[in-house]
Amino acid sequence: MDRTADVVIIGGGVIGASIAYHLGLQKAGRVVLLEKGQMGEGSTSRCVGGIRTQFSTEINIQFSLESLRTFERFQEELGVDPEFRRIGYLFLATTSMELGVFERNVELQRKYHIPVELLDPSEIGKRWPYLRTDDILGGTFCPWDGYAGPSEVLSGFVGAGKRLGVKMVEGTEVIGIMVEGGKVVGVKTRGDEILAPVVVNAGGPCVSIVGDMAGVTIPVKPLRRQVFVTAPFHFTDQTIPLTIDFHRGWYFRQELDGYLLSGPLDQEASFNLNVDYEAMAEAVESALYRVPVLEGTRIARGWAGLYEISPDHHAILGTVPEVKGFVLANGFSGHGFQHSPAVGKVIAELIVDGKATTLDISSLSIERFKKGALLLEPMTAFKE
Ligand SMILES: Cc1cc2nc3c(=O)[nH]c(=O)nc-3n(C[C@H](O)[C@H](O)[C@H](O)COP(=O)(O)OP(=O)(O)OC[C@H]3O[C@@H](n4cnc5c(N)ncnc54)[C@H](O)[C@@H]3O)c2cc1C
Repeated sequence: MDRTADVVIIGGGVIGASIAYHLGLQKAGRVVLLEKGQMGEGSTSRCVGGIRTQFSTEINIQFSLESLRTFERFQEELGVDPEFRRIGYLFLATTSMELGVFERNVELQRKYHIPVELLDPSEIGKRWPYLRTDDILGGTFCPWDGYAGPSEVLSGFVGAGKRLGVKMVEGTEVIGIMVEGGKVVGVKTRGDEILAPVVVNAGGPCVSIVGDMAGVTIPVKPLRRQVFVTAPFHFTDQTIPLTIDFHRGWYFRQELDGYLLSGPLDQEASFNLNVDYEAMAEAVESALYRVPVLEGTRIARGWAGLYEISPDHHAILGTVPEVKGFVLANGFSGHGFQHSPAVGKVIAELIVDGKATTLDISSLSIERFKKGALLLEPMTAFKE
C-alpha cells in the first residue's frame, strides 16, 4: 500500500464511494479509500433505496434535486443501470397536525417546481382502493419519487472511481488519525500508516468512533431499523407508490413479487443487527391495519440495519475548525443513499476548491450544534 496520499477516505459505503468518484472526476490527486470490511457492508447494503423530493427543509430538497439529476443519467455517466423506478411516494396524514405539516411542505416543495399533489381522503380512496382510508385526513403524492438499487449505485461509484485512478482498499481498518499542531497528517491502520493532509470521515454509523480518533466529538447515534419482505403475493395490477403511514412511522412498497414492510426504528443507540419477532409482529400489524388485503400474505425474510442519526436529523458536512484537513460526511439520518450523489460532489468541491459551490452546505456544518443553529425537519417521524 502507498505510504502517502493527497486524500484518505475512511469508509467504503455509498457516501465514501461517491466522494471517491467525484474526487477522481475533479483530479484531486492520489485518493485512497480504506474500508475495514467489504465495500458496502455497512448501512448501504441494508438500505431499501428510497429516493424522494418530499422533504420539509430547503437544504434537504436541494440535495434531493441535485442527486436526482445524477440518478436520471446514472447509466450514461457511471456505466451501471441504477434500477431507478419512479413509483412515487404517497404520504398519509391521520392527525390535523400532520396535515398542517404536509400543507406547509407542499408550499415549500412547489417553490422548487416539484409536482407534488395535496390529496383529500376520497381522492386517496379512489386512486388506491386497497388502502384503509376511514381515519385518513389527507395526503401528498409526488410522481418524481421512487427507489433505486443500493448495490447498483454503489458499484457504479466504485467502478467509475477506480477507472479514474482512485484506490479502494478493502479489509483495512483505520485505528487512528494522526493530528499534529491542529492539522491532520495521516491515518494509522493495523500495521501501517498513510500520510495525507486531508482525511474524510465517511464511517456511516461508526462516525463518532472515527471522530474520536481525531479528538472531534460527532453527535451521531446508530439506531437499528428492521425491515421485512413478504413471500410472493399479488393483489393489484396498478403501480403501488411507496406509501407512508406517517403517524405509525410505517411504510410499504412492492419488492419483486412481494412487498417490503418497514419495521420499528429503535430509540436506543446500539450496533445491534439482530432481527426480532416483536418487530416483525409490529410490521405486520401496521400492514394489516392500512392494507387489509395483505391478510393473505406471510413474511419470507427480514433484516436490520443502522441509521446514523444526528440531533436535528440533517447531515453533518464539511470541515472541522479545530482540526484542519479533517472533513465530515456524516449523520444522514436515513437519507444518505438518496443524497449520496450530491454529497460526493459537494465534498469533492470543498476539498479541491476550498468551497462547495453546487450547493451551499454552510448550514450543515458541525458548528451548528455549538451555535444552537439546529435545522428543523418535521418529517423525522418517517424514515425510509
Ligand atoms: C433499513 C434501512 C433502510 C434505509 N433506507 C434508506 C432509503 O430508503 N433511502 C435513503 O436515502 N437511505 C436509506 N437508509 C440510510 C442509508 O442506508 C445510509 O444513510 C447510507 O447507506 C449511509 O452511507 P454511508 O456510506 O455513510 O455508511 P455505510 O454504508 O455504513 O458505510 C460506512 C462504511 O465505513 C466503514 N468503516 C467504519 N469505520 C471504519 C474504520 N475505522 N476503518 C475503515 N472503514 C470503516 C464501514 O465498514 C462501512 O462499510 C436506510 C438505512 C437502513 C438501515
